[in-house]
Amino acid sequence: MSKHILLVNPWIYDFTAYDLWMKPLGLLYLASHLKNSGYRVTLLDCMDRHHPFMPVSDNPGPKRLKNMGCGGYYREKIPKPVQFLSIPRYWSRFGIPWDRIKKQLIEIEPPEWVFITGIMTYWYPGQVAFFNLVRQIWEKAQVIIGGWYSTLCSEHAHQWGFDRIIIGVDPLQVIKQLSSDFRELSPITDYKKFFSVKPAFDLYTKLDYTVILTSIGCPFRCTYCASGRYFPGFWRRPWRQVLNEIIYDYQNYRIQDIAFYDDALLYRTEDGFLPLLKALKKEQIPLRFHLPNSIHARYVTQEIAELMRECNFKTLRISLEFSDAIIQKNTGNKVNNSIFEKAIQFFLQAGYDSEELEVYLLFGLPGLNVKDYEDSIQYIIDLGLKPRLSLFSPLPGTPDFERVTRYQIKEDPLLQNKIAYLYLSEQNELYESLQRKIAWERERYIEKE
Ligand code: SF4
Repeated sequence: MSKHILLVNPWIYDFTAYDLWMKPLGLLYLASHLKNSGYRVTLLDCMDRHHPFMPVSDNPGPKRLKNMGCGGYYREKIPKPVQFLSIPRYWSRFGIPWDRIKKQLIEIEPPEWVFITGIMTYWYPGQVAFFNLVRQIWEKAQVIIGGWYSTLCSEHAHQWGFDRIIIGVDPLQVIKQLSSDFRELSPITDYKKFFSVKPAFDLYTKLDYTVILTSIGCPFRCTYCASGRYFPGFWRRPWRQVLNEIIYDYQNYRIQDIAFYDDALLYRTEDGFLPLLKALKKEQIPLRFHLPNSIHARYVTQEIAELMRECNFKTLRISLEFSDAIIQKNTGNKVNNSIFEKAIQFFLQAGYDSEELEVYLLFGLPGLNVKDYEDSIQYIIDLGLKPRLSLFSPLPGTPDFERVTRYQIKEDPLLQNKIAYLYLSEQNELYESLQRKIAWERERYIEKE
């Protein structure tokens, strides 16, 4: 009989978590390849809001997002880690309750292998908790972890006793390391082959949305971001293959929403996103599209903005991060104010309302001061837009991680949690006062108009 592998998306341990089109896409690709190689695959997604064991969340979140497939996760408040005792926020395990997961594990056929993925480095307690549960139930199962924690904090990960630690998030690096145990995967040596399968969304019983990746990598190297650094180069899937996947998802899963996971969706757009948009316009599929990762303002053109509007791209995030030219340059030069303003104009001319354009500023980067934030906020307000502050989280391997001064934060990935960092770096009061300033200035601006 073929070998059985359990693929796991574990719980999230955090102060806050919300399903903003969040699916373990890499795990679903792996599931498809393993199935095609003859393995029996079971998926256990502890964050699946439609899992029969998932209780209803008390946090539906904003109605607009709820109507587009998003929603709050069920949470169990649990004692805070001792490092967080001074932080006045609840600490929770999000996802299907632990005892229900245990019950399910006891009922399934014991696997030879368990693969536990992970998204944020500081969510490793979920990977460790699941590993401990596996050890309680099946002594002999070999446990592998992958994802950003095992990649960026591999030394830290060694202490838990996992059988294998995958280092790397590039799919080919992952497959290469897995091939020593799963020999059938060894022919997958290029992206073309890796993306020749569809992610195994069929392993879910119900879906509100699917997610899609059209490219790998990012041409920029922002000083606070790990994404660009961990892929050897930029590679784009053929747009026709992406179009077929969108049509397939629509027809097979009856979804209305699809989120793109690309880091650089608009880069080299003539070969990829532009022809895809033109084809989507022709197909007239009644879908809404979302870009939870920000897009690069510098690659927006009038044509792209209009096509996005016509194809029903609903969630648009554009990150300016800071309005100061020197800071922009020193942190990676992905955007400047004139590029940003041009992109905003294109979207407004295409018919987007200013409320629909989600503009992000980065809060908490080491070395920034109050004036830097106030100037950035005022700049966005004066353009008639609403600034949103995204919280900096120090990521190992990035230049800005090295600029974090408290060594405890560098030593323990848990302290790299963005809310923990906000408090531990004593910037929470400034953050709250800036949020009040945004609300007040925005109100003033609207009154003036
Ligand atoms: S442009 Fe975006 S994805 Fe690319 S390195 Fe900068 S922050 Fe990361």
